[in-house]
Amino acid sequence: MTDFNGQKAIVTGATRGIGRAIARAFLKGGAIVIGLYGSDEEAAARFRDECSALPGDLYLYQCDVSSYEAVELLFDQIEEQFDTVDILVNNAGIRRDGVLAMMSPEDWRRVIDINLTGGYNMSKFAVKLMMKQKYGRIIFITSPMAHMGFAGQTNYAASKAGQIGLMKSLSKETAKRKIMVNCVSPGFIGTELLGDLPESQVKEYKSMVPVKRFGKPEEVADAVLFLVGPGSSYITGSVLEVTGGL
Ligand code: NDP
Repeated sequence: MTDFNGQKAIVTGATRGIGRAIARAFLKGGAIVIGLYGSDEEAAARFRDECSALPGDLYLYQCDVSSYEAVELLFDQIEEQFDTVDILVNNAGIRRDGVLAMMSPEDWRRVIDINLTGGYNMSKFAVKLMMKQKYGRIIFITSPMAHMGFAGQTNYAASKAGQIGLMKSLSKETAKRKIMVNCVSPGFIGTELLGDLPESQVKEYKSMVPVKRFGKPEEVADAVLFLVGPGSSYITGSVLEVTGGL
């Protein structure tokens, strides 16, 4: 287990799925975790309960990452309480699938606003705090759909490709201040994000994966831990795939 004692880690979308596994891994390593969620208060309460026995300290906030104003306010509070942050994981994300010809402007915008603009909002304020201490680690949770594409996911794939461009450019701006910026790109992971898929489609997707199963959120968390841990001090601007060979 990596030791994160004393480190301050922000995880967006921390209460469910992949973000939950990442936040739990940080808490197990003794980190101070600032976890954000969108609107599901029940999931947030459940998450708070299940983490109460872990060694780290959890601070949970409802914050819509797509709102610049809400994120700015949150960071005022974070700076006052914690001064700086060491780690940011831009994990919050949604899908609103549909073929482009039928896609409403709302479904286009919402996916871009949360998945891509949310990463801009969070990273902008986190980088300012990381600059103060000349150290930081930023991770974006992207997707192989960014380069593969998928029918019905033009909005999602565009948002995920955008995250990679954002990450690569940001990594060049911040490397000299020891702020490393990378992406983790999970394949099919068994979370509620895929909960609406019919059983037949799940079977078909599993058969497409060379290891013949969906990944677990904890397997994505392991990749994040590596990229924010001591063994990755010369890695920035990269995309680490966790796809079972997809
Ligand atoms: P889930 O749907 O299980 O969880 C999503 C999390 O994001 C929830 O905590 C949710 O909060 C939060 N969230 C949603 N909208 C907002 C918002 N506006 N502001 C703040 N938080 C928000 O998703 P996954 O865990 O499966 O996915 C996590 C990330 O991994 C996403 O970026 C996704 O695109 C990416 N990914 C997932 C894959 C998969 O197969 N599952 C594959 C590749 C990438 P709340 O509960 O309050 O709604």
